[in-house]
Amino acid sequence: MIRLRTLTLLSALTIFSANATLAQHDRTIRFPDTDRYLTLVCDLHMHTVFSDGKVWPNIRVEEAQRDGLDAIAVTDHLEYQPHVRDIPHPDRNRAYDIARSVSAGNPIVISGSEVTRAMPIGHANAIFLTDTNRLLLDDPLEVFREAKRQGAFIFLNHPQWTAQRPSGIAALTDEHRILISEDALHGIEVVNDLTYSDEALQIALNHDLAILGTSDIHGLIDWQFDIPQGGHRPVTLVFAEERSEQAIKRALFDRRTVAWFDNTIIGREKEIVPLIYASISIANASYMRRSSVLEVILDNRSDVNFLLRNKTEFTFHDAADLVEIAPNTHTMLQVKTREHLDAISLTFEVLNAVTAPGVHADVTLTAPIIPTDQ
Ligand code: ZN
Repeated sequence: MIRLRTLTLLSALTIFSANATLAQHDRTIRFPDTDRYLTLVCDLHMHTVFSDGKVWPNIRVEEAQRDGLDAIAVTDHLEYQPHVRDIPHPDRNRAYDIARSVSAGNPIVISGSEVTRAMPIGHANAIFLTDTNRLLLDDPLEVFREAKRQGAFIFLNHPQWTAQRPSGIAALTDEHRILISEDALHGIEVVNDLTYSDEALQIALNHDLAILGTSDIHGLIDWQFDIPQGGHRPVTLVFAEERSEQAIKRALFDRRTVAWFDNTIIGREKEIVPLIYASISIANASYMRRSSVLEVILDNRSDVNFLLRNKTEFTFHDAADLVEIAPNTHTMLQVKTREHLDAISLTFEVLNAVTAPGVHADVTLTAPIIPTDQ
């Protein structure tokens, strides 16, 4: 694959500040808003010392601030409490209360809990709970029903987890189907920590569940996802009318999400295509002197290093049919149009935008061509 020439308008500045850049790269997760919604960056699955996590809740808030997240949910295990002798906490809302009080709205902190059962239930997160203590019940189906009574959004966690699914193949059980039929299961993790599941994506599509990507962090975000080396945690992009807890909740129930994992975006076409159009566009197109080779400047306003496959009749002058559009900068692509056109239209298959197992989004970028002296 060819990495196209990246035009860094700020290249001089970048050189001057190279040492600072190396010392601390920009770890803020950046995605543009779409034409209809705000794009909110959310991590809705994480742990603290109030279950089997390794940190006090304030560290989760500070990590999220460093990553520029809009919202987090603190989701300690209900039934797994390995630190309880050192940290007895009769009030199970405590981790949320601490995180919320230190965040002061940055990020938005959402209450939650992880239902932690053996198969056939497995693990699930209930978020937007009003009182976690009332979920301490014996019958697992009753836990989901209580969460639903509290208005919670409930999603299946890591259905591909090999400790509960040795094949790594996600599948629904009869109990999951009962919960879906009762509207007590609304989403599914397609991405959890360092793993991705095509089968979970297919389950989301078949059963109209929201598509989620979460860190499920227990230790430190920086160490788990190599953030100092340029890595990022998995997140769920939530397309909301405003930056508020209520708007996030509405968007999740409406399934308006895309998961962002390891340079791949995963979601339904109706969310992923507007996100790609918000992210990349043609900033300028003009012909090289005395030629019909068009120099197209592509602007990428997102963290995705887009991998595009040419689907037009034109061939390229500086690349084969695969092009890479670097994040948060401009990239030039030279297109051989044979004759001088007034406008350019380029169709690409976006290889790292997954809308179903083995299926990628297509986009068409258009722009007028700026006339030049020949
Ligand atoms: Zn978890």
